[in-house]
Formats: sequence, structure tokens, C-alpha cells
Amino acid sequence: MSYARVLCVGLVGVEGHLVEVEADLSPGLPAVVLTGLPDTALHEARDRVRAAVVNSGQSWPNRRITVNLLPATVPKHGSAFDVAIACALLAGAGELPLAPLEGVVVLGELGLDGAVRPIRGVLPMVAAAARAGIGRVIVPLGNAREATVVPGVTVRGVDSLHRLVAYVRGEDHLPEPAPAPPPPPAGGPDLADVAGQELGRYALEVAAAGGHHLALIGPPGAGKTMLAERLPSLLPELDDTSALEVTALQSIAGVLPPDGGLVRRPPFQAPHHSASLAALVGGGSGLARPGALSLAHRGVLFLDEAPEFANATLQALRQPLESGRVRLARARGNTEYPARVQVVLAANPCPCANPAGDQFCVCNATARRRYLAKLSGPLLDRIDIQIRIQPLSAAQLMTTAAPAESSAVVAARVAEARAAAAERWSKAGWRVNAEVPGPYLRRPPWRLAARDTAALRAGLDRGALSARGFDRILRLAWSIADLDGRGRPTGSDVHEAAQLRIGEAHDQRDQT
Ligand SMILES: [Zn+2]
Repeated sequence: MSYARVLCVGLVGVEGHLVEVEADLSPGLPAVVLTGLPDTALHEARDRVRAAVVNSGQSWPNRRITVNLLPATVPKHGSAFDVAIACALLAGAGELPLAPLEGVVVLGELGLDGAVRPIRGVLPMVAAAARAGIGRVIVPLGNAREATVVPGVTVRGVDSLHRLVAYVRGEDHLPEPAPAPPPPPAGGPDLADVAGQELGRYALEVAAAGGHHLALIGPPGAGKTMLAERLPSLLPELDDTSALEVTALQSIAGVLPPDGGLVRRPPFQAPHHSASLAALVGGGSGLARPGALSLAHRGVLFLDEAPEFANATLQALRQPLESGRVRLARARGNTEYPARVQVVLAANPCPCANPAGDQFCVCNATARRRYLAKLSGPLLDRIDIQIRIQPLSAAQLMTTAAPAESSAVVAARVAEARAAAAERWSKAGWRVNAEVPGPYLRRPPWRLAARDTAALRAGLDRGALSARGFDRILRLAWSIADLDGRGRPTGSDVHEAAQLRIGEAHDQRDQT
């Protein structure tokens, strides 16, 4: 036989597509021709595969070899096709029986010495194979545990082409990988560590309940980072679909721990303000890597010292925050990654950021205004909760004797509130209050009683509140009511919601 076909998977963004690797060997001048939209890394597969085959003790077929990847319409990136190509051409040369590879997806990169190396993105590739009805996969040993996360697929891990050849010939067996360990219990920083900060803690709880973006404005040392880091501990575990998405993104980014199973906790990403655009939204050559924005998918993106981020960077967040997806334009077609995140933004009130507080600020009024105004277009417009927090005074620190509530206690309330909201909006398809458009909340049957919104409407008439600010307060009022187990916000919920909208940033935006 001089023709063989082996299955593999190509990734476009986070989507896997089944790819058939065909090898045809014909008489003629020895050469290897690769067709079917391969990229540069894949072109180099010719050399890697040849060296790996020879160094695995196999003879290289000295014929004209055509390797074709189907369908040609799917762009193919990187080195994940190496092992499938080696298998196809060895089978085409009659060195390997084809039957054992029938209906098996083969993934992995080859080293020149014939080692099968781990690759990025195994999880979404195996998931795609499963969706296509493939029940068996062979993956690099280093990725085997990750692959077992996908239900209904038999996984074999292999560390060298030599062993793979022996396995296909029935001369050796590949052990079944140990299943991925159960996800670790919720760890990480706990809200019990945050002393005082009543408003900050409450804002965090409401943000968690309603899925609201949150801005914390205050001097250094006020505890903005401490609060932000604890938001994931208040969020519910990821459901199956979200967990697969989040784990797949970490797999593609190459940040999944080697023995890691399914990621069940909402992720937390805190890119530094000097981070490049690619690090933040994704990029790089070949298969574009997800950036912090996508690695925070279904979790929290924390932008500390947000006004220090480059303008272009802040602008680049705008579209993804709207759509929940990042689109990366590539020469060979666009790549898309999911990016549905909850943003927590922290900012000093002014450029001098005097830790002793505002009374020692040396900035003039214009500088203060400009500093936060930088955020207003791209970000603050979407942020429902904007509060100012202050460091605890020594006296406060000494008098806050009562132990603070733990994350677990607050998370239980958040879970109930979220369940109520999900039930209420289920027909419309929203999961959390933050997703509900303002006009919807101003119409029956969701419109609140006139007396409960009287103060807000007065503020609107006075010009002290913008229409958008009005809608934000309504959304927050629903989250507050959900947390308290009320089916509908009362006047005092609306009042409390308005408390979560004070602060310089809000005043500025609403007055412009
Ligand atoms: Zn200042």
C-alpha cells in the first residue's frame, strides 16, 4: 500500500476541527511535499518527522511523498500534526498496519530524537474529537491527564515515536493514564482576612451576586488589591460547559499545570499596567495565544492602577467587554477567544497617590480630573459599582474586634441571589442582573413603584444623575434585593444601590 490516512485535530481559536492527514508515496525523486494550508511551523514538520523517524530506528521511505491535510479550508498551525504525519507516511510505506489507527485521533509534536513532546491545546482538541464521534485518542504522555478530562474518550499517552510504532504493531502496550485529580477545594485568599472595609466588602458581595463590574478608587494601602483578589472566592464554581472552556483556554495558552484536571474555580488575572497589548488581549505568531482577558474568562480581570494602562490598551478592552469575545486579526484568518469577564478596576484618586490620603494630595484639580477621566470612555461606562475606599485608621483597626465573615459565608448568599436572578431572567436568556439592559428594567412588569425611585428621578431632573447612571442603580437594586431574598427591590434597596455609585469617577462621568 502506498497511501494512508490518519486523523488529527486543528485548532481555530478555541474550536477544534477534525483534520485528515493523508500520505501518498509514489515512485520518483525523493521529496516531501506538504499541502493543505500549513503554516511555517508545520512546514518544518517535514524535517522534524524525517529526523524522528530515522532516529526511532525506522527506515525513511525514499520515494516522492505527498502529505495532504484535509479539509484545506481549515488553517493549520504549529507542530501538533507531527505524530499523525509520521504515522500516515509510515503506514503508507507499509511499515505500520493501518487498522489499529482507524478512527483514532493522533496528536503530538516530534523531537528530532523521536520523542513525542507535549503540545498546547490538547483539551479542546480532544473535546473536538469527541464531538466528531471519535472514541480513542493518542496524545503526548505529558498531556494525557489533561485529555482524560473529556468524557467518553479512551486516552493513551505516548512519549516516543518508537513506542508508538511498537504499540500500533501490537508489540507493546501503552498504559492507561491515571484520571485527572479532582479539582482542589476552593483555596486562595479569604474575605475573612479583610478587616473593616464595610463598604468595600459589601460592594464585592453585590458585584459577585449581580455579575457587576466594580471600580475601587482610593489611596495606596486602602486594601483595593486585597478586596479584588477575593472576588473569585465569592463566585460559584464553574458549570461543566464553563469549566471546559476555561480549562481549554489555559491549555491553549500553555499554562495548565501538567497534572491539572478540569478548572472549576473562576480564574483571576491581574495583568500589570505595563503589560503589552498581546499579553492583555492575546496574540503572538502562529496559533495566537489567549491573553489575560481570555484567561480570565468566566472569572475576574483585575486592572490595578488602571489609569496607568496605555490608552490603546484600555481602548482594546472596549469591544471584548461588550461582546464577551476577543477577535485577533491574523494574516491567515481571524482567531476568536471567549472573554466574558468581570472587571475589577482599581485606581488611585489622583496621580500623586499620596498614601496619607486626599488631604495631602499635591495635584491640582485639572490633574485629578484628567487622571480618572482617562478611564471614562472605554471602561467606566460599563462599570455599575464605583466606590471610594479609605485605609483603616489605627483606631478603626483596633476597634474592629469582631472576626470578619469568611468567603464561604458570603458565597452562600451570593449563590442564592444568583439563583433567584437566573430564574427571573431565564426566559430572556440573562444569567445575572448586570446583563439586563436598562430600558428593560424601566418597563413593566419590572418597573419599580414610583415612590421607590422618586429620589433617583429627582436626581435625573436636576442633572445630578445621568440616564445611564439611573439604569446602573436599578440593576444594583435588583442585586441587593436578591441578596436579601426579596423578590423585588424596595425604596431602601434603591437607596443602598445609589450608595454604591458615589465617588469622584461617577460624579465626573455623570456630569459630562
Ligand atoms: Zn494627588
